[in-house]
Amino acid sequence: KSFADLGVIPELIDACTNLGYTHPTPIQEQSIPLALQGRDIIGLAETGSGKTAAFVLPLLQELIKKPQPLFGLVLAPTRELAYQISQQVEALGSLINVKCAVLVGGMDMVAQAIALGKKPHVIVATPGRLMDHLENTKGFSLKHLKYLVMDEADRLLDLDFGPILDKILKVLPREGRHTYLFSATMSSKVESLQRASLHNPLRVSI
Ligand code: AMP
Repeated sequence: KSFADLGVIPELIDACTNLGYTHPTPIQEQSIPLALQGRDIIGLAETGSGKTAAFVLPLLQELIKKPQPLFGLVLAPTRELAYQISQQVEALGSLINVKCAVLVGGMDMVAQAIALGKKPHVIVATPGRLMDHLENTKGFSLKHLKYLVMDEADRLLDLDFGPILDKILKVLPREGRHTYLFSATMSSKVESLQRASLHNPLRVSI
């Protein structure tokens, strides 16, 4: 199958081609068509499977339909992963002028607040720093969020981000929001996070 067979639009296929993605990986082949139908998804996949593009491509395709600031939020367990994800958002979104901000610990809050003031379409964040901005950065709210991804959910929970994730979920809208959870492993903790955040999800695994 090709990206076009999965329903991906030409601007994004061109961005894939520029990155050398000629064909979708198995996790992309399974999850992209379901995501584009608007389903919530649990993806069981490891790093290296192409899971990032599996959630970034549908996110960008939805964003193009109705561009708005603070459209999408990706939560990741570590700074390094957050930067890797933001690089893929920017690379895959390069032909559609997507603005992405990264909110991670250990970096300047003020510089991040200024980046938020520029109304990025997508935020990639670690949970603690996101909560810090939700509580302390004036005018910042995610009440119009349309697309939430929790990447490496098992690691998020192993690092004890569970209570912060619960707090974040409380301030996000549920109506009209699509949610994806990616994890390398399933556990009872991941399942309870899934129940708290996803609506009638489909499970894909490779
Ligand atoms: P990930 O599992 O998301 O960390 O991706 C692993 C690597 O695969 C990254 O370097 C991606 O740039 C690359 N990648 C993702 N999708 C594809 C694809 N369809 N074809 C070739 N490489 C890909």
